[in-house]
Amino acid sequence: MITCDKCDALCCKAIAVPIETPEKEDFEDTRWYLFHENVSLHIDFEGQWWVEFHTKCKNLKELKEPGKPKFGCAIYDKRPPMCRDYKLEECPRNLKEYKHDFFTLEQLDAYFSKQ
Ligand code: SF4
Ligand code: SF4
Repeated sequence: MITCDKCDALCCKAIAVPIETPEKEDFEDTRWYLFHENVSLHIDFEGQWWVEFHTKCKNLKELKEPGKPKFGCAIYDKRPPMCRDYKLEECPRNLKEYKHDFFTLEQLDAYFSKQ
């Protein structure tokens, strides 16, 4: 298992928001997400769709201290519950979160063409 001290804080560099499963009439609107930079779409192993914004938390700081992890949380003691509750075993460094990943329109179109 990869531990946080060996990681570049991947979990603090994105926001994932659940979205409704797109029906056929929603395909064009769903493609729109991927018109934007640093946005991807995903389907997890339970069939839930997610839009992910690849953007760093403003509280993530580079520590630049020898012997310490490369990154740290500037508000560690006051970090919100969602950060406190986040489990190392379920993080993207240690678990494949998604069954399908769409980073490009070509990937998404190929998936829709089979629906
Ligand atoms: S929880 Fe996972 S992704 Fe986040 S810093 Fe730790 S190892 Fe990295
Ligand atoms: S508040 Fe801290 S632990 Fe939470 S995402 Fe931001 S940097 Fe990471």
